[in-house]
Amino acid sequence: MSANPPPHSFTLREELDAALLRRTDFDAWSPELKEALASHQSGNEFVLLRYHLLVGLAISAIALMWDIIAVPQKADVAIAWRLLTSLPLALFGLFVLRTGDVRKIKLVIALSLVGVGVLAIHLASFSSPEIMSRYTMATSFLLGLACLALPCPPQEIKRFALIFGLATSIAGLWPNALPPGELALHIIFTALIGIPAWAIARQHWNVRARSILLDMRDDLTRHELEQNNEMLRQLSEQDPLTGMPNRRKFERVVSERLEGRRPDRAWPGKLAVMMIDLDHFKAFNDRHGHQAGDRCLAMAAAQLQAVFPREYGVLARYGGEEFIAAVREREPGEAVRLAETMRAAIEEMLVPVRDTSRPLITTSIGMALVAADTTLELEDMIEAADVALYSAKRAGRNRVEIVEVSDQSAALPHANAAGRKA
Ligand code: GH3
Ligand code: MG
Ligand code: MG
Repeated sequence: MSANPPPHSFTLREELDAALLRRTDFDAWSPELKEALASHQSGNEFVLLRYHLLVGLAISAIALMWDIIAVPQKADVAIAWRLLTSLPLALFGLFVLRTGDVRKIKLVIALSLVGVGVLAIHLASFSSPEIMSRYTMATSFLLGLACLALPCPPQEIKRFALIFGLATSIAGLWPNALPPGELALHIIFTALIGIPAWAIARQHWNVRARSILLDMRDDLTRHELEQNNEMLRQLSEQDPLTGMPNRRKFERVVSERLEGRRPDRAWPGKLAVMMIDLDHFKAFNDRHGHQAGDRCLAMAAAQLQAVFPREYGVLARYGGEEFIAAVREREPGEAVRLAETMRAAIEEMLVPVRDTSRPLITTSIGMALVAADTTLELEDMIEAADVALYSAKRAGRNRVEIVEVSDQSAALPHANAAGRKA
């Protein structure tokens, strides 16, 4: 079974469930469901058919030896017939095995079997009465075995059995007729063996088809479950108001990246974690209403995302009117410039409000800068950025404050964290 099954259509899923629930026979299935079943089991079917074809080729080689021993006076007919029919069929069979065309393999097997049956009846017509009845019986048994063994749908088996019965009966009439009694016995035996064998094969096919349907349903359910899990994961990591990543995603992605980091002293810049907090947002909400506040948050998110280099960092809504960013500098000073760009982008925003006022929205940013090969935890960096944000608020807001944190200074929480204005 494939690890990643093709996503079947919703209607196919319904049909599959209905077929399992109502225990419908294969014959009653829709063409789409039959097609889905065929494509689901094509690998197994090919392996089985290849097996049957190879066994069939071996049997016809043995049958030829038997023909020569049993009816030596017609050995030339047997050999000629094999050379003209079985040999090309065998070669064609080996060729289609390489192409993997299941329909053609089935055709080769069916033609080979009919050929063996027709030759057996033809040779029987020249043999002694004792050998003759063995030939005709063997022909009927061959049909029975084929019906039971071939991994084909009931209609195909039915078609094959009818053609086999008809062809061997004609061979009993022409070019060299069997005695009428023997021919009648052949027809009766073929029917007596062929019909129950077909009924058993049909039953067997339905049981197999049903078990394949169960497999398919398992595959579909697993696939749907994986999709739903992925959807849930995405939803659980997305902020619904702004559509941007939320705090959970930020922490997961940044922690993963920090875990996967390698000491990289050649990296020119530093790592920066920024806390971005809108100024006096409570007052904005109180004055313009919560709806306008929501609009403002969505606009602020869009502004920040527009200037943020996603390939080098992660930007998320941390909660309320706070955003958070982590970025790896490509060159020294890049994070500070980026913070300044983000601050300016928020300041430029024109949020539509109920009245005609054009409220000025500003933001304060606290940034923790650490060496690229730091062993600090994300938590420590966020804490340091928060300290810097607090400094920015105290220093009058609408500004960027930076703390440079070293691995040692984090061990003594923020004792050395010196804030400085951008
Ligand atoms: P400061 O400059 O010190 O950050 O002041 P502030 O008013 O921005 O900060 P404070 O923490 O006092 O208030 C934050 C406000 O943000 C309070 C809350 O009403 C508002 N807020 C938080 N989340 C949302 C939201 O999803 N939508 C709206 N409209 N407002 C929100
Ligand atoms: Mg806040
Ligand atoms: Mg605020």
